Amino acid sequence: MSIQKNIQNIRQHIPTDVKLVCVSKFNPNEAIEEAYSCGERIFGESKVQEMCGKYESLPKDISWHFIGHLQTNKIKYIVPFVSLIHGVDSYKLLIEIDKQATKINKKVNCLLQVHIAREETKFGFSEDELIDILSGNEWKELKHIQICGLMGMATFSENQDQIRDEFRTLKYLFDKLKSDFFVNDKSFKEISMGMSDDFKLAIDEGSTMVRIGSSIFGHRLY
Ligand SMILES: *Cc1c(COP(=O)(O)O)cnc(C)c1O
Repeated sequence: MSIQKNIQNIRQHIPTDVKLVCVSKFNPNEAIEEAYSCGERIFGESKVQEMCGKYESLPKDISWHFIGHLQTNKIKYIVPFVSLIHGVDSYKLLIEIDKQATKINKKVNCLLQVHIAREETKFGFSEDELIDILSGNEWKELKHIQICGLMGMATFSENQDQIRDEFRTLKYLFDKLKSDFFVNDKSFKEISMGMSDDFKLAIDEGSTMVRIGSSIFGHRLY
């Protein structure tokens, strides 16, 4: 199947108010150009160096989303051009992003990653950790970050009920944080959940942003 066919197929299942992040990691520029020619403008990458290289050589109206695990010493390379950082999984990282963004007087959009999977290996905050951080006033001093919502990854599993449960947990937490800490903040509106295998479930459960890679570009060659 061609990238164009894949996109047409996937687009049929995505309501217009849900954003599609085309996860282009490990795929060459030509693959991104093909998706771009279908009208796609949001691309997700998980490695800093790879994203910087693609940013340099591809059209400037692309929104680059960083979806990987970000190391503090590499933040400065992506801050100038990144549209959204999905995987902010520690307070230290948030402080560091703010610091780098302050240097160039930019406000960087971030999602807080929540650990919703039962697996041990996935990164992210627990609900208690988030409430702890947001209850304090310290984070409000970070003037160069914008917290736009939450991001989560479900367990890698065949069990649809479990996956649905995990997405539901994220949506529930989003609603709770929205009313407790962001009630007047219009920017806090995104729930980034759903990948190739589970995006329909995620949309059912309230996702506003799906991150789809292999169903668009085929299996990645690492
Ligand atoms: C790779 C990746 C995706 C895309 O996964 P697919 O199963 O290929 O759609 C989505 N989100 C994150 C965080 C990823 O690392």
